[in-house]
Amino acid sequence: MRLATVVTDRGERLHLHTPSGYVDVASALGDERFATLNAVLADVDAGFEAIRGIADREAIEVDPADLAPAVPAPRRVLCLGLNYRDHALEGGREVPAWPEAFVRGPDSVVGPYADLVKPALTERFDFEGELGVVIGKGGRYIPAAAALDAVAGFVVLNDGSAREWQRAATQWTAGKNFDGTMPIGPEVVTADEVDIGDLALTTRLNDEVMQSARTSQMIIDVPSTIEFFSSFTTLRPGDVLATGTPGGVGFARKPPVWLTPGDVIEVTIEGIGTIRNTVADESPNGGSAGSWRWHAPIKTGATL
Ligand code: ZN
Repeated sequence: MRLATVVTDRGERLHLHTPSGYVDVASALGDERFATLNAVLADVDAGFEAIRGIADREAIEVDPADLAPAVPAPRRVLCLGLNYRDHALEGGREVPAWPEAFVRGPDSVVGPYADLVKPALTERFDFEGELGVVIGKGGRYIPAAAALDAVAGFVVLNDGSAREWQRAATQWTAGKNFDGTMPIGPEVVTADEVDIGDLALTTRLNDEVMQSARTSQMIIDVPSTIEFFSSFTTLRPGDVLATGTPGGVGFARKPPVWLTPGDVIEVTIEGIGTIRNTVADESPNGGSAGSWRWHAPIKTGATL
């Protein structure tokens, strides 16, 4: 199943994407309990079974611009860094001996075709195409062998990064959490529909291929990623895991390539879909920095 969240007159509502269009899940079921993805994931077995029964219902067309993040306002996005060998090396780092984990918050997420907000406070705005994992049942202490039972499905995401904020620090929270810098979508493809072990991942900037890799090149595969995160935190329905990006990002290029307003950045994962975002300046309505000119209160001497 392909589950999209659509912005409607009645708010953001979960839709089943069928070959003929989009079916409003709660309306088709006559049950408003299942109006949102989070509500379905909270009772995922019953929810998915009910949704399977509406695949032949009358569908409507949806303007891609009306797609909300496939996981709206996720409680958190648990991310792995440096999970592809070529990306670790291109950044001048060793392949890590321990998982590099960081967390993104819900305000950093945007829709799959929304504007990607270039923060006012970075001149080094970069892309990272990645496979995302959407937690269904979740749990704690989940062994890799049983990990996919905890998963609802998969998405494409772009881990948009403010590189000077990230690379001047050892902790990545700031550089990875500017508002509106992580598109998620275009929809949640349920785990029974796609085998994520060896899928092509491609990132294009203005139609030029920047990243081309396969998910089989991950250092820590998806089941082991779930085992790792669930070792220290309870994975809850609607949590998202970001599995790291392959080589080819902008900062490691010579010369570097930075995202600027008007650029179109697109990430495709075979069998899951494509997200496509136009880079936009942070606008007055999007939380303008105005005259805000934050600068580090200490001189780090860091090489950015
Ligand atoms: Zn990343």
